[in-house]
Amino acid sequence: MGAVYGKLVDEQTRCIHYRSPLDVVAIKFKCCDRYYACYFCHQELESHPPARWTREEFGRPAILCGVCRTELSIEQYLSCGFVCPSCGMAFNPGCAHHYHLYFDL
Ligand SMILES: [Zn+2]
Ligand SMILES: [Zn+2]
Ligand SMILES: [Zn+2]
Repeated sequence: MGAVYGKLVDEQTRCIHYRSPLDVVAIKFKCCDRYYACYFCHQELESHPPARWTREEFGRPAILCGVCRTELSIEQYLSCGFVCPSCGMAFNPGCAHHYHLYFDL
């Protein structure tokens, strides 16, 4: 399993920006092909602007559950109802407010 980058505070991919019990999702950025805990982690540790996933790419595995380390496609993630289909961990529904930063919806 690849590494998760960012200003992490634990092994379940929580970071200094998002560290509630539900903040366990890491997102892969296609600009650098790296998993980051969040948008701000990417911004603070990389010098390039983030690239967003386009609709045609939503079938790609680009979401990582920090609890069970299962990779989900963006499609799977967007339709999972904020529950990991693999381990049942609840994801933060508040992330929906930031989809536009990651996905070209
Ligand atoms: Zn990047
Ligand atoms: Zn962060
Ligand atoms: Zn999981």
